[in-house]
Amino acid sequence: MTEKIYKNIDTACLRAGYEPGNGEANLPPITQSTTFTYESTDQVAELFNLNDPGFFYTRLGNPTVDALEQRVAALDGGVGAVATGSGQAANLLAIVNIAKAGEHIVALNNIYGGTFNLANKIIKDFGIDSTFVSVNNFDELEEAIKDNTKLIIGESLANPKADVLDIEKYAEIAHKHNIPLILDNTLATPALLRPIEHGCDIVTYSSSKYLDGHAAAMGGIIVDSGNFDWSRGDYEQLTKPDESYHGLVFTDHFGNSAYAARLRTVGLRDLGTIQSPVNAFLTLLGLDTLALRMERHSKNALEVAEFLENSDYVESVSYPFLKSSQSYDLANKYLKGGSGVLSFCIKGDRDSATRFIESLELIRLAVHVADARSLALHPASSTHRQLSDENLNEVGIFPNLIRLSIGIENSEDIIADIKQALEKACGDR
Ligand SMILES: *Cc1c(COP(=O)(O)O)cnc(C)c1O
Repeated sequence: MTEKIYKNIDTACLRAGYEPGNGEANLPPITQSTTFTYESTDQVAELFNLNDPGFFYTRLGNPTVDALEQRVAALDGGVGAVATGSGQAANLLAIVNIAKAGEHIVALNNIYGGTFNLANKIIKDFGIDSTFVSVNNFDELEEAIKDNTKLIIGESLANPKADVLDIEKYAEIAHKHNIPLILDNTLATPALLRPIEHGCDIVTYSSSKYLDGHAAAMGGIIVDSGNFDWSRGDYEQLTKPDESYHGLVFTDHFGNSAYAARLRTVGLRDLGTIQSPVNAFLTLLGLDTLALRMERHSKNALEVAEFLENSDYVESVSYPFLKSSQSYDLANKYLKGGSGVLSFCIKGDRDSATRFIESLELIRLAVHVADARSLALHPASSTHRQLSDENLNEVGIFPNLIRLSIGIENSEDIIADIKQALEKACGDR
């Protein structure tokens, strides 16, 4: 029904996923209830047989969370989506939905520190092996893929080095090996990049970042493109009978939304990584302005990147839409804007970097990116702290590197703050 009233993503941000009936609330109501009541045991049995998509227990689905899932699925052009309690939970579920002990995954080595840990340690403890490969190195990728490899996972736009992944090439290689490509699209958001249009099969988000956009609610979400043919590879979770659902076969029962259906009915059911209705409500509110915010974030960040590139106190700047960026051509191919996150190396050492951050007045020090308010962070002592020195150097996280998440304030105020902090950090030495 909603498809009829909008064509463009900025309208979809406000309208997809919830359409009130006559006399109903204009905003999706917060359904703050764990359970839903029914009149007949037969009806409940049909819910358990997965023949009726109704709600019965919030761990498996909730109307407010459902509105969020439908909105993000529409924004990305997927057949279904499943929301989780955090971005970490989204990437965990996205992997374990189709990989199990004795199998293998390939991950990009420039992914978010938390995902790196997940792929490097916890899932190995579960018996799923992993190999890390460097960004846009296709020979290395081909070499890393084994007979028991089940998926490739990476990020469409990775911070703090602003790497843009050549999505179409990754999709082509993945599909040649009959495995899906999973991309974490947290920093780009569907407002700037829709990975499914470029061949990506599964898209994940930390909705705690731009989708919420106000640093109010933790959350994650996984979107199923519906395009991957699971019978091409050995994905018995989806193509063989599931005993916990009386022998139901997900691909037979749910067709091209089998992956999303299993995420919910097995993943959420057994791992319990749900998103709360209140957080879904807050994220829906944030999504209303996503397209508008991403436009402003991108415009402001490009101005800041250009200012930094011309500063005598700055060694180098990473932002995808700088002509000096190694990702410039890929950014032009895939992105409508560069997003708000950039990083730069200050002239000097670790101390110069921390002095800069502590001299900022408008921009706040916070372990977060993608807030409407501008934020600064020192990755080597925070988000990437868990990486060894060798891994740090490999991905280019130097001690004098500063990450900025440029907000939607007036860019003149942001640049004035950066200018005075650079002078304090480096000026009279
Ligand atoms: C923050 C982040 C995550 C983890 O999400 P949480 O919501 O913090 O659990 C995953 N991927 C990327 C790219 C992120 O920035």
